[in-house]
Amino acid sequence: MAALLTIALSKGRIFQETLPLLAAAGIVPADDPETSRKLILDTNQPDVKLVIIRATDVPTYVQYGAADVGVAGKDVLLEHGGEGLYEPLDLQIAKCRLMVAGRPDQPPRQSRSRIATKYVNVTRQWFADQGRQVEVIKLYGSMELAPLVGLADYIVDVVDTGNTLKANGLAPLEHIADISSRLIINKAAMKMKHTRIKAIMERMAAAVGA
Ligand code: AMP
Repeated sequence: MAALLTIALSKGRIFQETLPLLAAAGIVPADDPETSRKLILDTNQPDVKLVIIRATDVPTYVQYGAADVGVAGKDVLLEHGGEGLYEPLDLQIAKCRLMVAGRPDQPPRQSRSRIATKYVNVTRQWFADQGRQVEVIKLYGSMELAPLVGLADYIVDVVDTGNTLKANGLAPLEHIADISSRLIINKAAMKMKHTRIKAIMERMAAAVGA
């Protein structure tokens, strides 16, 4: 039997939208991660397993070779830095935009602006590139709350419809990057398991175009 091939995925939108692409590559999970509590899912192929982890952990598992392949949002990849990974394929799923947002009527602060975000690396880089001095505050969720309670002047977050911002009296202000999910591959696995990974990549790429 061939060596095990492990694919890292996060639950929710990325999992749902990756399913048809995996199916095109002949891989069908044996369980639904929304109802199963298993963290390692079998598939229809005895030598292919899925590991179900937090979206922000996917690049880390693939970087260290705990998973050979993964699907991660470009937002997560920008924040991670991409060390140890190949990023050969834009899957064109889970699309959104990484934006600076704030109150449309925000008066400019005299001292350094405060930016709340879970994307601290991307945010530091974005403002540093423009020579703007800011203080970055790390949050783990509900970024939209920060400007409402005076924790921060602005947030950096992913925006899809903009409804969440709008519902909280915020508006998108600056566009940092267009986001979609990418197929990522561990660099060593790409060499060691090249034939199988290449086949999966090609079949997924064909399904993206279709
Ligand atoms: P929105 O449609 O702009 O109201 O987005 C709803 C919520 O989902 C917001 O809190 C966003 O941060 C989040 N969100 C939207 N699209 C994505 C995506 N592609 N990946 C991760 N989070 C997202």
